Amino acid sequence: AKAAGKGRYQFYHAHLSDRLVLRINREQALRQAIERDEFILHYQPRVDTATGRLCSMEALVRWQHPERGMVPPVEFIDVAEDTGLILELGGIVIEKACAQIARWKAEGLPVVPVSINVSALQFNDGHVTDILADAMRRHEVDPELVGVELTESCMAGEHDTVAGEMEGLRRLGVKLLVDDFGTGYSSLSQLQRLNVDILKVDRAFTVTLGKDAEGTALFKAIVSMADALDICIVAEGVETAEQLQALQSLECDEVQGHFVSRPVPAAEMAALMLKRFLF
Ligand code: C2E
Ligand code: CA
Ligand code: CA
Ligand code: CA
Repeated sequence: AKAAGKGRYQFYHAHLSDRLVLRINREQALRQAIERDEFILHYQPRVDTATGRLCSMEALVRWQHPERGMVPPVEFIDVAEDTGLILELGGIVIEKACAQIARWKAEGLPVVPVSINVSALQFNDGHVTDILADAMRRHEVDPELVGVELTESCMAGEHDTVAGEMEGLRRLGVKLLVDDFGTGYSSLSQLQRLNVDILKVDRAFTVTLGKDAEGTALFKAIVSMADALDICIVAEGVETAEQLQALQSLECDEVQGHFVSRPVPAAEMAALMLKRFLF
């Protein structure tokens, strides 16, 4: 039994060190990608549910890998968070989004607000407000054109610290969004106290629409509470006409998802801004 135990231990140990090696490799690859400036942003529109009018967009990071092609964030955000590289990557995203808004403006396009994802680590670091303010100032970006998407885990920290950081962002004049709502533990009243402007309801709720009565009822309850609290509601991950119809009858304010458009490169987003109505 002892021998077996020892064997298991060695096996486990070897397994761990493989993972460690893998992690170090991934960290190095990510560091190198940052140095080589291989990250780009794609943009996904958010539209008015009733009319299809373009309201806003979300900036989503991609890694343009020289051999692997376009690498989605699921494959590197975790590593970036575990290694702390998310702070650097997050700064790059802020910089690129502000630079892009300025370019679109210079091209005379009817630019709509761009929301930027901020990870919990980046939010709790306490510098995100200053970093954003600096990028907006250098690129002369109007704060009305910027939103910050925070997950519920950003708001799980000590209340005063969280409220202070969110107040700092508010003072910049940017919109505050809560991402993936419903997957964490925050309540709507808590979000209202934090002066959240927009609530993005997680895709997990959208997929239940029209499929099961309970899911639809839950969504309806979220919409009516948000309406009473004057928080704008966005349904994420809308993929079908059926889901869109359900959201229209629930009077959910805005929708985002493949049914309207996948995330697209900046040039395609420019064309969508000119088109204005996306369905
Ligand atoms: P998220 O913030 O919830 O972003 C929405 C994700 O859902 C995006 O995936 C988007 O492409 C995808 N999506 C949009 N519409 C649909 C749909 O109709 N159906 C389905 N199945 N998916 C849809 P993406 O771009 O792969 O990003 C995944 C996650 O990575 C994001 O989830 C966000 O948590 C993170 N992420 C992306 N960019 C950044 C960034 O710049 N900074 C940070 N911290 N995280 C980011
Ligand atoms: Ca988001
Ligand atoms: Ca989301
Ligand atoms: Ca209202």
